[in-house]
Amino acid sequence: MDVLVIGGGQAGLAAGYFLRRTGLSFAILDAAEEPGGAWRHGWDSLTLFSPAQHSSLPGWPMPVPAGGGYPPRDAVIAYLAAYEARYALPVRRPLRVTGVRRAAEGLVAEAATGERLAARAFISATGTWSRPFIPAIPGGETFAGRQIHSAQYRRPEAFAGLSVLVVGGGNSGAQILAEISRYAARATWVTEREPVFLPDDVDGRVLFERATARWEAERAGLPPPAQLGGLGNVVMVAAVREARARGVLGSVRPFQRLEPGAAVWPDGTRIAADAIIWCTGFGPALDHLAPLGLAGAEGRVAVGAEGQAVGEPRLWLLGYGDWTGMASATLAGITRAARGTVAGIAASLVPSFVPPAAG
Ligand code: FAD
Repeated sequence: MDVLVIGGGQAGLAAGYFLRRTGLSFAILDAAEEPGGAWRHGWDSLTLFSPAQHSSLPGWPMPVPAGGGYPPRDAVIAYLAAYEARYALPVRRPLRVTGVRRAAEGLVAEAATGERLAARAFISATGTWSRPFIPAIPGGETFAGRQIHSAQYRRPEAFAGLSVLVVGGGNSGAQILAEISRYAARATWVTEREPVFLPDDVDGRVLFERATARWEAERAGLPPPAQLGGLGNVVMVAAVREARARGVLGSVRPFQRLEPGAAVWPDGTRIAADAIIWCTGFGPALDHLAPLGLAGAEGRVAVGAEGQAVGEPRLWLLGYGDWTGMASATLAGITRAARGTVAGIAASLVPSFVPPAAG
């Protein structure tokens, strides 16, 4: 086998699309039971914050939902399932890779089934969803109420009548606060700083373009462009606009500690709480790479151009976030990142390889 891709979410599929065009042999190993990657675990009301036209994988545009609007979670899952069928991508599922090791025959993936699969190059595309991040807070372990991460959140009815703290000022925090506040007795939004709300007519597509411009300026050693807006800013999707109209989008700064039934602020303010929903982001899911001894800061692996691991040139990382390629954790950004990674692999395995034209 020339290339093994670990992970069959949007990043793994985009890699598969470009690998098909190289003529290299490859397979995609995915731990999940079904297609869809992280989208299978999103909460019920989760929608994209970019229109379908700007959320497509290479080759085949995402269908526009009937009635327009931003595609809901299930439409994204259906698109990813149809995408891998359309391009007959060789996905083996469910197959969890538990470790990647150096062996006499090259790099070898060990699967939970006991199988050993060797390849000349590996792409790790395992995403972040299985690595929710919750900050350590004094007294956190004494809190008697319910604590979940946004990765486990499904629907607001479970919080009816409760006092809920929603922690985190990004899009997850804003969207979950918006719907929780319709059911909870009290919903308190806790954010590190005042959230940045984008104008109503600015969606994820514009954020992506601005983030790209900033990234390109940085790479060229130029000052950042004047326009504000990053992928962490709050997009005013319908639910968040509705929450604003109800006047519930106010936020407070972080509490200092937790007690069994309350959060306590530095000035002594205390809010009784039954539940906390941590919308505090994710880290990369890279446990399977531990045997290679490449772990660096924040659980990351140092990468060079196109996501090639600095300490292991036969390994490439794809997706995860800007550190492996600009906006590579988004549908809009994965095409460019996957094209670059596959071109890099092909060039390393087939010296006469000429990258295919964009498309
Ligand atoms: P994933 O989708 O997580 O796929 C990784 C796959 O790898 C999974 O199928 C997993 O089972 C598999 N896997 C993991 N470990 C192993 C292993 N050891 N062996 C084998 N397989 C393994 N993006 C957008 O573009 N637009 C949006 O509007 C948007 N909204 C979002 C809203 C929220 C609240 C969140 C949290 C994210 C949002 N995203 C959005 C980002 C997007 O959901 C993820 O970043 C994206 O799913 C990442 O794709 P991926 O393929 O890298 O990883």
